[in-house]
Amino acid sequence: VKVTGKNHYLLHSSDMDHVALKKLTLQHEMRRALSNKEFMLYYQPQYDLASGQIVGMEALIRWLHPERGLIPPAEFIPAAEESGIIVPLGNWVIEEACRQNKAWQDEGMPSIPVSVNLSFRQFSERNLTDKVADILEKIGLDARYLEIEITESMTMDVERASHCLKELTCLGVNISIDDFGTGYSSFHYLKNLPIARLKIDRSFVRDIQQDPNDAAIVAAIIAMAHNLQLQVIAEGVETEDQVHFLRSHRCDEMQGYFGSPPLPGSGVLQLLREKLNR
Ligand code: C2E
Ligand code: CA
Ligand code: CA
Ligand code: CA
Repeated sequence: VKVTGKNHYLLHSSDMDHVALKKLTLQHEMRRALSNKEFMLYYQPQYDLASGQIVGMEALIRWLHPERGLIPPAEFIPAAEESGIIVPLGNWVIEEACRQNKAWQDEGMPSIPVSVNLSFRQFSERNLTDKVADILEKIGLDARYLEIEITESMTMDVERASHCLKELTCLGVNISIDDFGTGYSSFHYLKNLPIARLKIDRSFVRDIQQDPNDAAIVAAIIAMAHNLQLQVIAEGVETEDQVHFLRSHRCDEMQGYFGSPPLPGSGVLQLLREKLNR
């Protein structure tokens, strides 16, 4: 490092310290929060477009910080991934989502899968499948009621991804590709990986009505998914017009504020009860 002057060096060094310190504090805080049970899951319903029934739930993490309130995942998941805390945190998410889903079933609600977002760090853990199998057994939840969402970038090493996804699929867990169309897209993995569902990214759904290119892309993804015998769900659906478009193109499911925002577990139970009229 070339030091041009004492002050310059000091300023630079303290900037680095500041960033590093912030990171360290966040990592320390997350470890504390995990043992303090400050993380919680919200759940966003997924609707069948033909029947209007709720056919799934996506678990979305939040951090209920004692001073800062509810913190969205974008503010801590990247740091959790970088530090590796995402592995125990991600395991907690899988377990908590399964526990909640079992609790809904025990309340007499219709059995539907809960989907969990997986980080690339968890995906590269050797014993992921064992961990998932242990959790399902401990909770007493059938594997078909757990789904895992991965992103396209996680499948770049097709050999590895294929091995891991086959193991999970053998357990009975379904795999979805999240944010489909935004990452490294290759037909190779669609052909070679055991995937059950594509989730069309919100960025294509948003302007479906105004932008003919987005409309064409969404229509093409739906048609391709069906030709490959995959289910397809649209993310970030906010308007009735979007619903009409998706329905007319035979998209299977939708998720978004139009249906419901993400809700705490108790809110979901209420919603399911209303749907059942009891
Ligand atoms: P995602 O998996 O793509 O999740 C969907 C995000 O879109 C959620 O944001 C959800 O609240 C939001 N959303 C849902 N419907 C609408 C809509 O109609 N309009 C708009 N504008 N947004 C909508 P959230 O909960 O803040 O999560 C952000 C991201 O954080 C997730 O994106 C996911 O990548 C990540 N994430 C969340 N929970 C977990 C987790 O447990 N583990 C990991 N590894 N990542 C997670
Ligand atoms: Ca997701
Ligand atoms: Ca997504
Ligand atoms: Ca996303």
